[in-house]
This record gives sequence, structure tokens and C-alpha cells, in this order.
Amino acid sequence: MDWVQLQVTVTPELVEPVSELFHRYAKGVVVEQSGGFNPDEGEGPDPEAPVTVTAYFPNDRRAGWRRERIDFGVRVLSLIRPVPSPQERVVSPKEWEESWKAHFPVLHVGCRLVLAPPWSEVAPMPGQVLVRLDPGLAFGTGHHPTTRRCVTELERLMKPGARVLDVGCGSGVLSVVAARLGAGEVRALDIDAAAVRATRANARANGVLRDVRVRRGTLPRPGLGAFDLVLANLSARLLVTLAPHLHAVLANDGVLVGSGLLEERRDEVVAALEATGLALGEEFHDEEWVTVVCKRGDDDRYY
Ligand code: SAH
Repeated sequence: MDWVQLQVTVTPELVEPVSELFHRYAKGVVVEQSGGFNPDEGEGPDPEAPVTVTAYFPNDRRAGWRRERIDFGVRVLSLIRPVPSPQERVVSPKEWEESWKAHFPVLHVGCRLVLAPPWSEVAPMPGQVLVRLDPGLAFGTGHHPTTRRCVTELERLMKPGARVLDVGCGSGVLSVVAARLGAGEVRALDIDAAAVRATRANARANGVLRDVRVRRGTLPRPGLGAFDLVLANLSARLLVTLAPHLHAVLANDGVLVGSGLLEERRDEVVAALEATGLALGEEFHDEEWVTVVCKRGDDDRYY
């Protein structure tokens, strides 16, 4: 079947309302931000740089209705701030497949996991666990080396029934994978409201909404309790700042997977984690990114 592609290039403050509108009526939404910034150091995209938002839906008998709803939404948004009319194109199944495959290939991570966009027709082999993540929603589809490493470590380290905490959940990729791999309880935190919504949407799409409790916020958070596995794919700066709190939420034999730091900040982050009493177990280097796996040591100087 052919697909309809609606594409609009907007200023950054319109990305969220436009992509939410697209999400409501389309099957897949892709947000393409300009690169050239380093989220590890708390940098964001150039606040002025235009962003392209693309919606895809099948060119079936509901296509006209979807297009009308989107056009209507764009006109409503334009009352607040002008939004250009989306450019429409019909793409052949072949072109559609090539375009999303180029952007979001199906990923095989760890031993059993298959991460795929919602519209992919991939079928899991026996024993594989398929997790569908919408790349239009928030950071984290498994295409970033740190996300992939965290997923691999999650699969390796998590025991069934474990309590898992995901600090900075983004799209919810790690939380959803944990729930799908049989975590007993998953708690997810993010300071960004869009990430909280994305995590809920991805949890729902994977049938684990009841297993993942998502809240807007950060550590410390009273009453969270202790976790067997804490995932924190953040940044060097945040790992240093949050180190004592990450230590505090670990159960006695709990494990922390910290990532999102660049090699040049590795020593500083490890020192901050060790100062809380955590012991560095392993570390992984993927491209210029580092992931550390720490255990709660015996020497609990902070708590
Ligand atoms: N866990 C996902 C996303 C990582 S991106 C993955 O592994 O791919 C980092 C996320 O941390 C972003 O969604 C950002 O909003 C969030 N974040 C930034 N500062 C934070 C803080 N102080 N506490 C909690 N989350 C934070």
C-alpha cells in the first residue's frame, strides 16, 4: 500500500504541538532536529534552527479524514503562531520502507531484544522479545550507542522480578524493555513532561503500561525505596550531581548502570560515584561514550 507523507518545517517552539497533532492522526511521526550539539554537556539544539516534522499514514480510505484533521489542527495552531501548510507526497511502499529503514533500522540488541519502530512489520523469532518504540516521541530508540549499551546491560544484569529505576527515561525505552524482560516493578522519572508522556505511550503500545510507573521529576524523591537495578543514561554533569542520590536508591546488592558521559569526563564521574561508596565493576566504551556499571560497596560513607 502507498503511504502519505505530510511534512512541515517549523521553528523549535512549534515542534511539540505539531508533532502531537501529527501523532494523533498519523501512524508514524519523525522529528528531524539539526545536529551539531552535545546533549552530554547539557547542550540543546540551536534554539533558532528550524525542525522538520514528518507524519506518515497509509493511503487508505481513512487517509482523507486524517489529512483533514491535521489540516484543521494546523489552522488552529496557526491562530497562535503561523505554521506553514504541510507538504504532501504519496510515497510508494518501496520508498517508504527505504526511508524508514534508513532512519530507523530494526535493531537487534543484546541476546534477545529486537527494537523496532511501530510501523515495522518485523516478526520476532521464537525466544526474541520485540519492543516497539516510536521515534517521534522522545530521546531513546536504541540508535544512540549509550541507549544500546544500557539495553544490553539491562538484559544481562536484570533478574526476573527485579525492582528497576530508570532515571531520565526519555522515550521510556529502558523502562519498557525492563518490563518486557520480566521486571517485578519499574519506576521511571524524567524532568521533561514530553518524556513522561512518551514513556507512557510507549509502555501502552508494548502492553506494559500497568508495570511502569512514570513520574515527572528527579532524584532525590522521597518514598521511592530501594532498587535492584538503577539505570541512569544522563550526562557526566548529572551523574556527578546525582551520585549520592543514585547510591541512596540502590538496594544492598543493587547495581547502577550509568551512561551518557563522554570519555574525557570518565575519571571525574567515576570519582564522584566512588566517593559515595559505590564500587566500579565494569565499564564499556562505545564510540566516544562511556557506560559504567557500579555496585554498592561495603564502605557506605554517605548513607
Ligand atoms: N533513558 C533514555 C533517554 C536518555 S536521554 C535512553 O537511555 O535512551 C536523558 C533524559 O534525561 C532526557 O529525557 C532528559 O529529559 C532527562 N533528564 C535530564 N535531566 C534530568 C534530571 N535532572 N533528572 C531526571 N531526568 C533528567
